[in-house]
Formats: sequence, C-alpha cells, structure tokens
Amino acid sequence: MKAAQLYRFDESLADSELLVLEDVSEPVVENPTDVIVRIGGAGVCRTDLELIKGSWCNQMHMQLPMILGHENAGWVEEVGSSVKSVQIGDPVIVHPLGGIDATRRQSIHHWQAQQRGLYPGFNCDGGFAEYMLTEERMLVILPAHLSPMDIAPLADAGLTAYSASRKASEYLNPGNCVLVLGVGGVGHIGIQVLRAISATEIIAIDKSEAALDLARQVGAHYTFIADEKYASKVLALTRWQGVDAVIDFVGDSVTIERGLSVTRRGGHYFLVGYGGKLSISTLELVISQKSIMGVLGGTLKELRELITMVDRGLVTLTTREYSLSEVNWALKNLIEGRNSGRSVLIP
Ligand code: ZN
Repeated sequence: MKAAQLYRFDESLADSELLVLEDVSEPVVENPTDVIVRIGGAGVCRTDLELIKGSWCNQMHMQLPMILGHENAGWVEEVGSSVKSVQIGDPVIVHPLGGIDATRRQSIHHWQAQQRGLYPGFNCDGGFAEYMLTEERMLVILPAHLSPMDIAPLADAGLTAYSASRKASEYLNPGNCVLVLGVGGVGHIGIQVLRAISATEIIAIDKSEAALDLARQVGAHYTFIADEKYASKVLALTRWQGVDAVIDFVGDSVTIERGLSVTRRGGHYFLVGYGGKLSISTLELVISQKSIMGVLGGTLKELRELITMVDRGLVTLTTREYSLSEVNWALKNLIEGRNSGRSVLIP
C-alpha cells in the first residue's frame, strides 16, 4: 500500500521532502481486539510538525521509520476474533489516544502501562496510508451520512477544541466574555462549540484577516488582529474588567503574556496550543487568583458528543482536501500558514 513515512527528525522543517511516500506492506491483524481501518481521510496537524521536529520523541518512544497521521477516519476492513462493537464496512473515526481521561489522574505513561499502548501516528504507524492497524476500544461508529474524509480532523483537532470549550463553558454564563486566541483548524471548531453550548460573548484574535473572516462566519461576536493593540481593545470592550475565560489555541510566549494580561481577576486560562514559555510571577498569580489549565485532547465520551453535534449540524468543519501523494505540499502550506480550516489527506 501507499504510505507517507517519517525517516528522520528535522528540527528546522526545511527539507522539501519531510515525509517519504513509498510502497509498504499492509498491516495485519495480530491480536483478538485488533481492527484494520481502510483510511477515508487523515487530518494534517501542527502536532505532525512537532513529531517531525522530534519534540515528542521521548514522550512517545518513536521508532523510525514510522507512518504519521493521528486524525483518522475510514471504514472497518478487518477485525480480530473478539471484536464485537464494530463490523466490517462500518464507517468509523479513530480516537488518537484511546480516551485518556485526565480526570482519572492517569498519566500517558500510566495509561500505556495498562493498555497495549498503540497510538497510531504517535508511537506506531498512523493514517497517512491506505490502511491502518488500531484497536476496537479506539473506535466510534459514524452516523451513516457523515463521510470519513469530511470529518477525520474531529478525531484530534475537533476533540481538543470541544474538550477545551466544554471546560471553559463551566465558567461562562450569559453576559460573560471569552477570548479565543487563534482561529485555525482547531479554533474555528472551538468557536462553534462555544456558540452551541453557552450564551457567552466571543472575541476572536488571529494574525490573519482570512482567519478572522472565518471566525465571524462561525459565530464570533468581535474579532481583532493579533497585534500589540488588541489587549487595550479587549479591555475596553469588557469595561476594563478583562475576559472571564481565555482559550489559547496558539500557546507561544507572546500570545500567553497578552492573553493573561486581559484575563480578569479570578478568570480561567485554558492552554491548548504549545511551544512557548509561561512566565508569570507567583505574587501576580496569587493576587489575581487566575487559574491556568492545560488541555490535551479529550475523552472517548467527548468524541461521541462532538460527533452528535456535527450530526445535528451544530458544528461544521472547514477542510481542504489533498491526495496522499501531496502530503509534503500540505505540510509546507501548514508551516507557512496558507491553509484556512483543516487539511485532510485522501489516500
Ligand atoms: Zn492533531
């Protein structure tokens, strides 16, 4: 089968061929709970760039060469002897981590020790291929009219946006204000989830006018370009109180500093994007009584809830399709910020 493999880490992301497209042997069922999925679509994600850079190498014990792709959907092709919950031909979306539940206080390593620990696209072959091996516990069956190629990015980007927005919505009552930092493939889903589950005012910030257009289309009430002046505009909008919650889909050092500066006293900051450094004096944090929380993906239950919202038309995904052979072009466009919405590779 055709697959896009990572052969070596590239911290600069400068190589024109970050992944190598080649013929490899198809995966086979090895264990009773195994499922082979015929890939319909695989989302391309900023986390793929971090995986290529080697940032996740120690966390995930990556062994190269490896097929990337952790936002996968398709159809069940083959099942192991004990698989009961899915049948051959079922359309499915694949949870990337099998539903690690942070509320159970389990670390990734603890979870790995308990489970077989296959995380396609992170520590074993993923979905930038025609077929992928996964396990029954990682699958959610799709409603009949949702197509795998249209919704594959919900597996990670959508799920993360949903989980962060759900957590933030616990602190957002009618009349409150939330700031969404970054309206890319993840942020535009977050705005729709916030619109559907809370009556909060949504302010969206991005460095691109096209992204702000998208933010308005999906329901943001106010949009500002991400320059040094946005903080004073947000403060003025909130009568100098600051916003009740921030969902930061960017996570670089400047974004965090500005975002925290407009979070009100006692407000909540949800960090989804990563790559920067968080710097705040302990005195300031104590006096302002702000909470800062990291969000990694979401649970299997949350993925089912998100699929229900998409099925009911409450959340729509903006995607751009590429063929699997265009994988390096899709990655370059992501690096250079030329995509609006989410890229999906079709094998
Ligand atoms: Zn992802």
